[in-house]
Amino acid sequence: MSSATSNAALSERSRRAVWHPCTQMKRHEREPLLPIVRADGVWLIDAEGRRYLDGVSSWWVNLFGHGHAGIGAALKDQIDRLDHVMLAGLTHEPVIELSERLEALTGLGHAFYGSDGASATEIALKMSAHGWRNLGQPQKCEFVGLAGGYHGETVGALSVTDIPIFREAYAPLLRLSAALPAPDARGAHAGEDGAAVARRAAVALELYLEQHHHRTAALIVEPLVQCAAGFAMHHPEYLRMARALCTRYQVHLICDEIAVGFGRTGSLFAHQQAGIRPDFICLSKGLTGGSLPLSAVLTTDAVYDSFYDDRTARGFLHSHSYTGNPLACRAALAVLDVFEQEPVFERNQATAQRLNDLVAPLAGHPSVRHARQLGMLWAYDIQTDDPSFSARYHQAALERGLLLRPIGNTLYFMPPYVMDEPAMQQLADGALRALQAVLPA
Ligand SMILES: *Cc1c(COP(=O)(O)O)cnc(C)c1O
Repeated sequence: MSSATSNAALSERSRRAVWHPCTQMKRHEREPLLPIVRADGVWLIDAEGRRYLDGVSSWWVNLFGHGHAGIGAALKDQIDRLDHVMLAGLTHEPVIELSERLEALTGLGHAFYGSDGASATEIALKMSAHGWRNLGQPQKCEFVGLAGGYHGETVGALSVTDIPIFREAYAPLLRLSAALPAPDARGAHAGEDGAAVARRAAVALELYLEQHHHRTAALIVEPLVQCAAGFAMHHPEYLRMARALCTRYQVHLICDEIAVGFGRTGSLFAHQQAGIRPDFICLSKGLTGGSLPLSAVLTTDAVYDSFYDDRTARGFLHSHSYTGNPLACRAALAVLDVFEQEPVFERNQATAQRLNDLVAPLAGHPSVRHARQLGMLWAYDIQTDDPSFSARYHQAALERGLLLRPIGNTLYFMPPYVMDEPAMQQLADGALRALQAVLPA
């Protein structure tokens, strides 16, 4: 691969050969694709040597930045031992150790592996409904989620995703599932706090389950933050009440920790802030720190036992070619090592405190509503009628050396956990200057 190739030449080749996700390809007639040739820590480096701070951890996966030495060393060691082996009837140490450690960290076990977040959702939905069937309740095969919920975009996962733009064209392919009022703290009425909003949303859940529990297999939620909905945050009280209602009405609680897991919200897993135990946990994104695709679903002994039998048909019938890939498992073990060996949470607290100071001018900008922060996650709703705000902001940020990609009118930062002072200053200053450029006073 020639390093002399220009950004424009690579962009043009990509436009012809690659169907890029989550964008209208026609947009790239005017707006070139940005070719990245190297990455180091929080920095992405393009084909012409320009550097961009990865303010979104490359779609929320690169927890410890790019090119992390520990993850790289683990992969190099593993590739010389065992690259891959099928997991049906065979096993290997990386998958055993990863499963043991995830169980120790969550209290849920029996790890089942997929390759991406959407397949983790599919696994949890199928396991939940099949589990009820095995217990003699085959009518419990419907799912319920929250308004604005996002759980991936394969056909099954999209059925429990409530983001109209992603659903519209595929609606005829989807199974209907209910989307209940979300406990979004921004929806507080006068005099209400986040806990009151949570209680109000829990009442809607109670009414729903009272009527539909006979047919409902599971409630699926994104604990504490609905990221793809535009970083809607809720009080942990909602999770406590949802847990109690799911137990009372015999409905599984699935916590989709794909975006918020691995320290993003200030605890290793977001649901832990509510002190609850779900029936399923879905993990992906940060699981391998942005090195290889991997997802895992963890569940309870009760669910596992409902499948444990001599009859194949009662077993969990689901398989992916790369399930439990040894390289991906080693990368995940290296990520867990970082959490075990380094003071990640203390460091993130200090980073968040410093960045909060630095972004005060942005949070105080007259077009910003609902400035909010949790753990290593910042979000700002920008008041503007410009339908192209997100695209224009993205470009303005790139011009200032920042990779930021607002969701609708919500500007957010989800930076890697390795921000130093100059990086924090560039993020805070650049984000404000990009906003001033896009929305001149
Ligand atoms: C990203 C995401 C998914 C889907 O993961 P993919 O790897 O993109 O399929 C599911 N749930 C949540 C909460 C996510 O943020």
